[in-house]
Amino acid sequence: MSGSCILADALLPDGSRVDVKVVDGLVATVGPVGVSEDVPEAFGAQPSSASLKSSSLKRYELNGMLLLPALAEPHAHLDKALTAGRIANPTGDLMGAIEAWVHRKSGIAIEDAIEDTIERSCRALEIAMASGVTALRTHLDVGSDIGARSVEALAEVRRRYEHCLDLQIAALVSIPLTGPEGRENRQALSEALEAGADLVGGAPAIDPRPSECVAECLSAASDAEVGLDLHIDETLDPSVCTLATLAKLAIDREFPHAVTASHCVSLGSMPVDVQRSVAALVAEAEIDVVTLPLTNLFLQGREHPVSTPRGFTAFGALAEAGVRVAAGGDNVQDPFNPVGRGDPLEVASLMVTGGHQRPETAFEFVSSRARALMRLPSASPSPGSAADFMAIDAASVREAVAFAPATRLTWKAGRLTASSSQSVELASVGSRSPSGQGRARP
Ligand SMILES: [Zn+2]
Repeated sequence: MSGSCILADALLPDGSRVDVKVVDGLVATVGPVGVSEDVPEAFGAQPSSASLKSSSLKRYELNGMLLLPALAEPHAHLDKALTAGRIANPTGDLMGAIEAWVHRKSGIAIEDAIEDTIERSCRALEIAMASGVTALRTHLDVGSDIGARSVEALAEVRRRYEHCLDLQIAALVSIPLTGPEGRENRQALSEALEAGADLVGGAPAIDPRPSECVAECLSAASDAEVGLDLHIDETLDPSVCTLATLAKLAIDREFPHAVTASHCVSLGSMPVDVQRSVAALVAEAEIDVVTLPLTNLFLQGREHPVSTPRGFTAFGALAEAGVRVAAGGDNVQDPFNPVGRGDPLEVASLMVTGGHQRPETAFEFVSSRARALMRLPSASPSPGSAADFMAIDAASVREAVAFAPATRLTWKAGRLTASSSQSVELASVGSRSPSGQGRARP
């Protein structure tokens, strides 16, 4: 369902103040503040909106709040979210997290586990919506133990939230996927694709036969005519490079659907010339990369007490090669990361301090680039664009990333989906917004 409205007196990143008119979920016009109230035609309204008088539109007074493209979360695990309080990761690394997660499944009736998954997934989605997110891709465990039950449950949740966000599901199939012992997992993957998964997922680097696993994932995606989003090389070991295998196979097979490689941590450990040659292959294969700074900072590098590595991918080589890179939150308070606020601005901040990106670029990693990677139309204050927006109490993109103010409004296709506000009372000064702007709230 799409909405029509006016976002009045919005501050844009270039410093201008504008009214944005939205008709049927798309930006119709962007013009000077106040003009839309009197002369809607002056905005060059599209023919389809000619009958819609501005006065009849829902009007949101932003009073100079910063209007930005909505945030997008390209890599989440809703089925694991918000379990940190009950599932500890004793070693703090990736294998400790996997073992803790697998162990927790034993002894729980599958119906109870699914009910619990739905409840936590909805909470995590609502946290994301309040943060300004209108699109989210989640990986969901699929395998011989749980079958495709999580995908079936989340496909139902997706229907419940369809007016609030675009929810994409990647079937994260258990290992082994290859050989005779992988038969049940392959069957579960096929059931997940039938049940509504949008993408094939997996973690080839931890399969006993990584290259075969990559090939199997590509074949499953080809057969189902869907894209692929794999957990790739989540290790600092530079000898592990299933990313190159994936790129070569995608090129050789002329794989026609979108491919995302998530993590790509080992690429960051390789010599620069090797990074460049792998990045060139990735670019040729038109593979997008998602970096996950929160989780990889937590999980990676514990065996290196001196100059501990950051666990990031090779941003420089990927950018040079023209590879699209977006950033995601990955885990929200689970054995893979006991913290995480479900707020992409937390990720953007780490892309500045840990990934050495400019704040404005870091914001793109969690908004426009993430949307493009998810094959969603662009969202920006320009005519014809999707009206997926976040308004936030900040004076600039840098300030939005730095303060991550909780005062935000979220619109999906021109419909308000969430609003939250935050104020601070100082005894000597009175009420003030956290960023110090002190604006009136809409
Ligand atoms: Zn993940």
